[in-house]
Amino acid sequence: MDAARLDTWYLQLTDRCTHACPHCFSSCSPAGRAVVSFPLARKWIHHMATVAPKRIVFTGGEPFLYFPVLRNLVHEASTRQLWPAVWTNGYWITGLEEFRLSLRYLADVGLRQLILSSDVFHGDQPFTPMADQLAPVATELGVELRFARVAPKEPHAPPDYLFEDHHILEGPVMFRGRAATECVAHQARWRLDDFDACPFLDFQSPRSLYLDARGFINICPGLPLADLKAVSLKKFFADFDLERHPFARAIAAGGPRRLAADFGLDGEDVPRGFVDFCHACWTLRQRLQAQVSRST
Ligand code: SF4
Repeated sequence: MDAARLDTWYLQLTDRCTHACPHCFSSCSPAGRAVVSFPLARKWIHHMATVAPKRIVFTGGEPFLYFPVLRNLVHEASTRQLWPAVWTNGYWITGLEEFRLSLRYLADVGLRQLILSSDVFHGDQPFTPMADQLAPVATELGVELRFARVAPKEPHAPPDYLFEDHHILEGPVMFRGRAATECVAHQARWRLDDFDACPFLDFQSPRSLYLDARGFINICPGLPLADLKAVSLKKFFADFDLERHPFARAIAAGGPRRLAADFGLDGEDVPRGFVDFCHACWTLRQRLQAQVSRST
């Protein structure tokens, strides 16, 4: 795998969250219990700095639930020449002064960007009435504030094709993770044959990679390529061969349609239609994983 185009590492600190949003691609909730240990995350950060010293976004779940660890990791990333950012739902922003005081702890150790989810899926948050006043406070502390605004998809809109990246901050919801089951009821469906690519990822030279709270590196959330508790990040890059990852290889070659063909999914295994590429991809991978579990 070529790290030349990589611009962002996502590091999921935990799958625990204050919310259980219907569109959450990592299916987080208050019941989540996975938390990355500090030594493991620190090791990943050191290896990221060697492989590609780029932006690192600490995410969750809700990373502010583990604030002391988060602060130490932001510091670690900053001192390793990574560009630290945190993605939060902002549950902790109960006032402007509270925002300043909390953010200062991260700004002091090198935080460069705060991404704040603010959209209809998250509903009214404590910070909603003061959302317009947050950016100047963040700027004073040397932190860029960005809002992440995911929008519902028009029920009859055709599948989206060729986003610049799959981790865009604004745009229609992508139907993977919990969204693949909880957000699809009223959406128009399209035939599996229409989904003959992954329009969002370059599997050999990705723009971003996602390290999850269970310790896996994913090319797309829910599509793991290696267990980083067993193999180092540096070795993963050095030895990467797409041929050794059958799901990813099939999706890279011909999208969900190729995935179904390569693994013999047909008839009752395949629903009658899908909302978009990710919905087809996610649903078929869930079927395949269920088959593997039943056979072991
Ligand atoms: S099509 Fe599959 S691999 Fe591509 S972004 Fe969607 S869920 Fe991920």
